[in-house]
Amino acid sequence: MVTRVGTCRCGQLKAICEGEPVRVSACHCHACQQRSGSAFATQARWPEAQVRIEGEAKTWERIADSGHKATYQFCPNCGSTVAYVIEGWPGVVAVPYGAFAGQDMPPPAFSVYEHRKHDWVEILGEVAHSATPSTTRNPGRNLLP
Ligand SMILES: [Zn+2]
Ligand SMILES: [Zn+2]
Repeated sequence: MVTRVGTCRCGQLKAICEGEPVRVSACHCHACQQRSGSAFATQARWPEAQVRIEGEAKTWERIADSGHKATYQFCPNCGSTVAYVIEGWPGVVAVPYGAFAGQDMPPPAFSVYEHRKHDWVEILGEVAHSATPSTTRNPGRNLLP
């Protein structure tokens, strides 16, 4: 089974992920743009039993547009987020794609919040595109960020 280690920029905080991710998505929402510091964010998800966090983390919570609470774990030293969970999909941990820089990763299969997408951005390949914001507490998985 493949093991990938996502790390923060300074390297002290790690998300050790066993097996292939259950979902890889690109999200164009404003919160993901702000979190990633980029025009959109890409993240991979695993069942929580397959993710081990090592190192010192701080936690921050926000309520997403969907009404779900999202809880982020980030490095207090360098500020990189290495893992987050959302209430809407319990038992699953998301790890920012960039934490795996330099490692082989599957491409995103979902592109969500496309109503927030910059015109010059296009997610290519076999991708399910969603433009509609989720407005319920239990959106379909296609609308999960
Ligand atoms: Zn760090
Ligand atoms: Zn998002």
